[in-house]
Amino acid sequence: MARRLFGTDGVRGIVNETLTAEMALKLGYAIGTYLGPGSRVLLCMDARAGNEMLAQATTAGLVSAGVKVYDGGLAPTPACQLAVRDWGFDGGVVITASHNPPQYNGIKFIASDGIEAPRSAEEEVERIYFESRFKPSSWSILSHMVEKFTLVIDHYVKSVISKVDKEIIKARGFKVVVDPANNVGALTTPRILKELGVKVLSINAHLDSIPYREPEPTEHSLKETANVVRAIGADLGVGHDGDADRAVFIDEEGRVVLGDRAAIILAQYLATRNPDLPKRIVTAVSSSIMVEDVLKPLGIEVVWTKVGSPIIARVMQKSGALCGFEENGSFIYPKHQLVRDGAMTTALMLELLAHEKTKLSTLIDKLPKYYAIKTKIPMSREKALELVHEVKKLYAGYRQITIDGVKVIGEDFWVLVRPSGTEPIARIMLEAREKEKAESILNSILKIAERIKS
Ligand code: MG
Repeated sequence: MARRLFGTDGVRGIVNETLTAEMALKLGYAIGTYLGPGSRVLLCMDARAGNEMLAQATTAGLVSAGVKVYDGGLAPTPACQLAVRDWGFDGGVVITASHNPPQYNGIKFIASDGIEAPRSAEEEVERIYFESRFKPSSWSILSHMVEKFTLVIDHYVKSVISKVDKEIIKARGFKVVVDPANNVGALTTPRILKELGVKVLSINAHLDSIPYREPEPTEHSLKETANVVRAIGADLGVGHDGDADRAVFIDEEGRVVLGDRAAIILAQYLATRNPDLPKRIVTAVSSSIMVEDVLKPLGIEVVWTKVGSPIIARVMQKSGALCGFEENGSFIYPKHQLVRDGAMTTALMLELLAHEKTKLSTLIDKLPKYYAIKTKIPMSREKALELVHEVKKLYAGYRQITIDGVKVIGEDFWVLVRPSGTEPIARIMLEAREKEKAESILNSILKIAERIKS
């Protein structure tokens, strides 16, 4: 197998351990060689440790190959992606490790359409990188190769606002708590909400490479923020990940809402408001089967994909859809851009609440109830594939989706078993109507795993 550099979403590593300035230089050089001399690349970064070091090393690599670099500075990933698309750059690079723990940073490669570069492009960049097939450019063109590009944030803020009904949101007089995890969402979401007439309380909103909470927005990491939402009587809370392409909501009772639940609610709303879009949603197998339970009776087709939002975006690009999403708070609204987009998702949620004259808790309580378990078992990829095979056999009579591990769907439960794309573990996700049922399914899978491991 060819050596890999890119994971499911960019290159990631611990700063100065598994991701160094030397690697960034070579990666920039490889991307530059792939794009060719004379290309124009927009480079942005989030506020993580090592950001300037990696940005400058990547820039040096790109310029070595004769690529002109536009320095977009600190910005959320979706803001950079929008600028790449709208200004016709040949590509983009974002220095970010998204939701990973603070010691990580990373390098994302964006295609000219603003979507994460397809796997085929990454493979070509990897070949250049590992085989050192760099193409140095002639000295004669190497002047004025780095330029500041200051429009990224303003353009994104304006663009998100233009996609929602500003007046109806303003009229509601919302109070919203925003938690951008001490990262670049702080530069955009509070501003966008303010311009939508929202009273904003920002938490963890000073940029800090050692954030107050874990960058991944989860029930656990948003616990204190959720307490604040309830305590001050806010209508909504929103937590972003480090690069603010995800939005996880907190209802006014202080409950953290899983991303697939929020997405189901948004999809229902978008279906009624967008007759021009196909009645179809695209989601990864990691989402709850509740997506089908709720949306299918409304005549909305559900397309399942492998895990990874760039995969969802590419499917949407081909077949069209109302929206695409994952359970982790990634949500793609195609009328803005075909990438997950935390501030856009937040603005849409506010428009929905204003238009439907309702509270988020009311909408959540209307959804079917499932008891959910998410866990992982340390094992090699080979053993994890063996586990997948055994689970397929165990549930032979049931409906199965096998595009990424196996997802088994029963009358009152579903379970997904898949090898992780990045770590030596098997990921298990399951939901059942009853807690006992969920626990018994988990136990039977754990037993098989024990047998395989021994
Ligand atoms: Mg992210």
